[in-house]
Amino acid sequence: MNGHGRTAIRKVHQDTDQRPFLVIWESTRACQLVCQHCRADSQDQPHPLQLTTAEGKRLLDDIASFGAPSPMVVVSGGDPFERSDLMDLIAYGKQQGLSMALAPSVTPKATRARLAAAAAAGAKAVSISLDGASAATHDGFRGIEGVYAATLPVCRDIVDLGLRLQINTTVTAGNVDELPDLLRQVIDLEAFLWSVFLLVPTGRGEALQALPGEEVEDVLHWLVDVSRHLAVKTTEAPHFRRVVLQRRRVGEVDVAEHFGLGPTYRRLRVGLDALLAERDLPTRVPRPPLDINAGRGFVFIDHIGNVHPSGFLPVPGGSLRERSLPEIYREAPLFRELRDLDLLRGRCGICEYRNLCGGSRSRAYAVTGDHLAEEPYCTYQPSGGPVLDTAGAPA
Ligand code: SF4
Repeated sequence: MNGHGRTAIRKVHQDTDQRPFLVIWESTRACQLVCQHCRADSQDQPHPLQLTTAEGKRLLDDIASFGAPSPMVVVSGGDPFERSDLMDLIAYGKQQGLSMALAPSVTPKATRARLAAAAAAGAKAVSISLDGASAATHDGFRGIEGVYAATLPVCRDIVDLGLRLQINTTVTAGNVDELPDLLRQVIDLEAFLWSVFLLVPTGRGEALQALPGEEVEDVLHWLVDVSRHLAVKTTEAPHFRRVVLQRRRVGEVDVAEHFGLGPTYRRLRVGLDALLAERDLPTRVPRPPLDINAGRGFVFIDHIGNVHPSGFLPVPGGSLRERSLPEIYREAPLFRELRDLDLLRGRCGICEYRNLCGGSRSRAYAVTGDHLAEEPYCTYQPSGGPVLDTAGAPA
């Protein structure tokens, strides 16, 4: 399949210098889980300086002030169900015309009644983490036994309540071979979208084993194959967009051969073929990945109101307690730098795909201490050709 006339990469319509497409709000760091890869280093109690209800509403006002089309808002954590004002905040965001989504943890607080209340307050989608296809892997990741068993009914409740279910999976060396089984579960759970996150070695995630660059390439190519059957997106893997475009440009070839992929791709492909043989999965037009990156269409607000380009880039551009979100997003030097793709260094700085990729700025920072350094988990060697646009033409 060669695209069916749809663009390979989706360019957001709004000017990302002026407004984000997606806002993630870490509404609290309180959470009853202690996940190994937690960006937030979650705590069992909320921080005393966590944004108050009034400050949260002011943040939602700020987001609405970007104007139509309004950014999408994901209320995250920690665990947002630890906030007693959560439903009030969702309802307030909806009143301001915002599209509200929720990223809770699977704890005893994630009840059907609370999910139903979130839906009634105006939430449209809920994302849930599933990092292993078995209790051993998933619970090992989470650090608590029984979370895997509790996750499946929560997912079913979400779908049953008419909410869109997004499954988030963090890929590491420890679970990469489970990806086909995870895919089977994502399909069985009727998820609307599978979001595959490439580990950023920060927070508790530093202790986990990240995939080497060659295997990342294998996984990204496999995800292109999967996208023909299920909507997938990547988090902190903007080079997925480069792979999507490369695949679009070569058409139907022996992918492993053409791109020199490794045994991980071949194993994952065998797993996908087995699943396709077992299930009658329809072929679909792939969901084009969205061309946004840290500080460029994407912004993260932490629990005490610091505004970051990404939840995995622990450098704030400013505080909501001092400046408004639009001011910080548009004017903070950090954000402006991240939108100036000519400032990228190393291979990213000379890469013909930099306009539509740009590498994970969070991982560059986590690994090198320089948010403009080249993406450490990308093996691509730039060709020296002209910079390409999202359609693959010279920009
Ligand atoms: S070198 Fe950098 S810009 Fe080029 S594809 Fe890799 S991560 Fe993207």
